[in-house]
Amino acid sequence: MNELLEECTQRGLESFGHEACREACSMALDQIRGARKAGDRMAGVDDAFWTEVSGRLEILPSLKLRGAINATGVVLHTNLGRAPWAAEAIAAAAQAAGASICEIDRETGGRGRRDAPVSELLAKVTGAEAGLPVNNNAATVLLAVSALARGRKVVVARSELVEIGGSYRMPEVIEAAGAVMVGVGTTNRVHAKDYIKALEDPEVACVLRVHPSNYRIEGFTKEVGMKELADICHERGLPLVYDLGSGVLDARDLVGIEKEHPVREALQQGCDIVTFSGDKLLGGPQAGLIVGAKPLVERLRRDMLTRCIRLDKTILAALEATLSIHALGPNAALSRIPTLQRLSLTEEQIMQRATAFATQVNALGDALTAETTTCNGRVGSGASPTEDLPSAGVLIRHATRDAADLAHALRMSEPPIFSRVQDERVLLDLRTVAEEQERVIVQALSKL
Ligand SMILES: *Cc1c(COP(=O)(O)O)cnc(C)c1O
Repeated sequence: MNELLEECTQRGLESFGHEACREACSMALDQIRGARKAGDRMAGVDDAFWTEVSGRLEILPSLKLRGAINATGVVLHTNLGRAPWAAEAIAAAAQAAGASICEIDRETGGRGRRDAPVSELLAKVTGAEAGLPVNNNAATVLLAVSALARGRKVVVARSELVEIGGSYRMPEVIEAAGAVMVGVGTTNRVHAKDYIKALEDPEVACVLRVHPSNYRIEGFTKEVGMKELADICHERGLPLVYDLGSGVLDARDLVGIEKEHPVREALQQGCDIVTFSGDKLLGGPQAGLIVGAKPLVERLRRDMLTRCIRLDKTILAALEATLSIHALGPNAALSRIPTLQRLSLTEEQIMQRATAFATQVNALGDALTAETTTCNGRVGSGASPTEDLPSAGVLIRHATRDAADLAHALRMSEPPIFSRVQDERVLLDLRTVAEEQERVIVQALSKL
């Protein structure tokens, strides 16, 4: 590394700063190690290496969309890019970014299907007959309704007409898909007889069930069980489509999401198509994942819209890596997928980290005082919207700057750090902070 840093100086790169040079060299070295591992024995410190280093130094620091530290306590923070990827997913995406076996058959050299590996894994981890990945979950509903009910009617309970942020509203999605929505029941109550009556209309092509992701209807309520609804549909030869949203594969041992509906369970209860997001509780990249009965999934796959909402090769690679981790079982998923790992932490475990963290902050000098606290985080992104996530963190006060000013300074530091303001102090909830990021936060605080 010292030799590389010396060469950085000779090449006039030291103006970018010593730490930045070290980091760029270290990342470029990782790339060489990866290439060697993959069989490229010629990979080394050559011209390409230095192009890589100077590229990183010049371009990456100037990017607006850049990595940040999430100390908000909201595990799946939509505005901070939802799920952080597993290390394997990041490596897989980087590897696929060049020429890659994306849509070619290795055996024959002929054309292949880009979604095939992910589709197979999706079926494997959910127990479905078939799977299909597309751009995001919003697109899966558009596709499912369009492919199954274009020019016909879709039955959906009035209690499920959700609006997800950013103008995604269920009645409008159905309309955009070219189908006519038939609302059944009332805001708080829907009965089996409501569905049965609506399904007498021969124009109805499917029933859509929507997970009330970001709200709860409580009090005098009634809904039809999933299995009962599936039976009602199947007796009439109609498919039941379920927009599940969050897509939990296995909720065991996870705080705050015990009430989420696992994908496998929804399929076992008789849903013919289940759709969910890749970047919510699955813990992967942004994607919309469709699983279900083979003939229906194939119908969706053949729809023209599928080509319009297909995934990029890097995202497919990251998804393949994420699903491969899930395929190893719940323990592997808990330890390697950051979203799940964060949800598996207990308040006591986080408090232990908070105590050590507060000591480090208090050692920085008199300007900052840090105090540990218990606090409440959230799962975020429409999972368990009404449930708090018991957590722990530190409250930080500055001698001369107010909390809003301190939070602003943290957002503007490198890398940007996002916190919450509580009781006139800055709250850093450590559940959503990776352990190796704590050092970076202390460093940022030391500069304030
Ligand atoms: C989050 C969510 C969506 C939107 O999913 P994206 O992956 O963000 O497009 C749609 N439906 C439900 C029920 C959701 O929870």
